[in-house]
Amino acid sequence: MKIEQLHQLYLQCNKVSTDTRKIENNSLFFALKGENFNGNTFAKQAIENGAKYVVIDEEAYAIEGKTLLVDNVLKTLQKLASYHRDYLKVKIISLTGSNGKTTTKELINATLSQKFKTVATIGNLNNHIGVPLTLLSMDKSTEIGIVEMGANHLKEIEFLCNIAKPDYGYITNFGKAHLEGFGSIEGVIQGKTELYQFLKENNKHIFFNADDFIQEEKLQGYKLKFGFTQTKEDYYKIELEEANPFVVCKVENTTITSNLIGAYNFMNLSAAISIASYFKVDLKAIKKGIENYTPNNNRSQIITVGSNKVVLDAYNANPTSMQAALNNFSKLKSTNKIVILGDMFELGSEAEAEHQNIAGLSLKLGFDKIYLVGENFYKTELLSDRIEKHPSFAAFKENFKKPENANLLIKGSRGMALERTLELL
Ligand code: ATP
Ligand code: MG
Repeated sequence: MKIEQLHQLYLQCNKVSTDTRKIENNSLFFALKGENFNGNTFAKQAIENGAKYVVIDEEAYAIEGKTLLVDNVLKTLQKLASYHRDYLKVKIISLTGSNGKTTTKELINATLSQKFKTVATIGNLNNHIGVPLTLLSMDKSTEIGIVEMGANHLKEIEFLCNIAKPDYGYITNFGKAHLEGFGSIEGVIQGKTELYQFLKENNKHIFFNADDFIQEEKLQGYKLKFGFTQTKEDYYKIELEEANPFVVCKVENTTITSNLIGAYNFMNLSAAISIASYFKVDLKAIKKGIENYTPNNNRSQIITVGSNKVVLDAYNANPTSMQAALNNFSKLKSTNKIVILGDMFELGSEAEAEHQNIAGLSLKLGFDKIYLVGENFYKTELLSDRIEKHPSFAAFKENFKKPENANLLIKGSRGMALERTLELL
């Protein structure tokens, strides 16, 4: 089947779906394959649950008049998304970087949606499946699309750019994330700058953080349309007023109080404010958008549990974000501070040194008690009796003594699911 024909069928459907448990009536179901499942086997179920057509790549699962048989379902999904992107009138802003993509994406959406009809990546759907699905959730009325792009190896961002064809791009930062796939920080920089490379080659716009010396250096020779955090005519001067715990910014004479904690969020807020001002969203609307945005999903939330106050940042962790979170927590004006840190994954040969570094930093910052949880942290050298190490969450749970009137920071990689600690408080 030609891609034009498939696109016509897609337009007759009201939604694309890949999960039979969440199918809406009249949708187009893509039978994707995963490590532990074969979407083809759900084709019949998809039709019974309301799908109008199913796209499959194994003939044995065909259903008369309802199936579109293709060579490869995933590639077809990507091709359709790319075709649809060309059909749309939308302007696409893509974001990548090691930390802060989702937060910045949400903030950009919160501000731009005050003026434009926007569609943004849902949650963290930022990979070779999520990016196509995001594009396919846009229609002709969408004015601006904000697309998060994640990567853990080289050429991934380039691949996603060729599908989403962004008009604008922003890299949040270069940090020590996914070192296993990228090899080194240089590899991370190379991988992320594939976005800027695409924008450069296609004569599109780059938003960049002029205060980030690596970006400044790497962008030599790029045709820049825009930078921020330095005062220029086109965008606002943004200052960090406080971060105790919520980040408050001063933009011209307007004070914007975010619901985000961690001074590192100042960068994410600055990006969103600058990008929104570039699109001529007025400051009042920017303020409204940001002040109405509250993060969820374990990302930098403050929660009160009994007599304890918890900074819950259990969504993810890598050495850069761990360091930022620890530094920030140490600056909060409170006492009886306890940190509970879970292993950082995907660090390859750097794992041992990076875990040791973080253990050392947490000790240096003077927290009253430091719990290190996971196999990697368990291997660190024990530096003080303020540190308690456990090889697994189960072992930690068994030994953890519920504190009273304490301030806690909880952070670890997703696989550690440290939000489980809340049940122990
Ligand atoms: P993922 O790779 O999981 O998609 P992400 O890049 O989308 O992550 P967020 O989900 O926005 O990032 O934030 C994850 C964590 O990274 C935050 O909870 C915080 O600890 C840290 N973080 C966020 N922004 C920054 C930043 N600008 N600099 C350093 N660390 C940050
Ligand atoms: Mg994300």
